[in-house]
Amino acid sequence: MDDYCSIIAAGFRERWDKWKIEIYKSETYEAIGGLLSRQVTLSMQLAECPQIWNGHIAPLILRAMTDAHITLAWILIDPTERTKKYILYGLGQEKLYIEHLKTEAVEDDIRMKKVIDVRESWLNAQRRDFMTEVNVGNWAGLNTRQMANESDCQGLYKFAYTPFSGVAHNMWQHISRYNLAPCTNPLHKYHRVPELLVTPTDPDYVYRSAKYVNRSFEAFDKKYQLDISTPMPQRWFLENFTKINEKPIEDNLEVVDTGT
Ligand SMILES: [Zn+2]
Repeated sequence: MDDYCSIIAAGFRERWDKWKIEIYKSETYEAIGGLLSRQVTLSMQLAECPQIWNGHIAPLILRAMTDAHITLAWILIDPTERTKKYILYGLGQEKLYIEHLKTEAVEDDIRMKKVIDVRESWLNAQRRDFMTEVNVGNWAGLNTRQMANESDCQGLYKFAYTPFSGVAHNMWQHISRYNLAPCTNPLHKYHRVPELLVTPTDPDYVYRSAKYVNRSFEAFDKKYQLDISTPMPQRWFLENFTKINEKPIEDNLEVVDTGT
């Protein structure tokens, strides 16, 4: 896993080094570079934490990764305009949050005042020429499904984002499998009772995260026509992981979290 992390970190750095920066378009570089960094960071954190390679926690990370990829792919269609929208929305959210804090803050609450000051200075330092208003609602003006459709991520949306969302939102299809167990009393008509279940550890979750990093790298490389020499994460993972894992990782479609 250390080797895997080195490969994806090197891939990230190589891309950043080779990307020709136009300094007057800083938001494009910051937003896209930041999203790529996010993908790599999440995959590294997951890879280094075998305790969370299970159906309770790993899907939360993978959900965030599919979300980051759809956002990135959608932004890459028109980076100049879309990164501005993305940043504006984030700043608007922060502004709104600061307003809520101010409303709630009690007079003389020095600690709270400090929090507000720090957040406000961050926000003011972020001021950009295109920043005009607080944007509430969805930043892209689209929901994730629409963004996925526009950026050719329908499969990812259907087979990964959606099932992982069930885990992130604690929905029945997850809870019924991961938080309930059949009652042992045969007279109780096989109802289920809440249980604290230990689920098996499965490195396949890391492989899935490698696929998402791969996808984001590919989308980026295609857009900016970069020639990258660091091995791609998915191929590297498949070639190296199967050497040490007795059960080969199946290179199937996205997910599917069957709950088994
Ligand atoms: Zn019972």
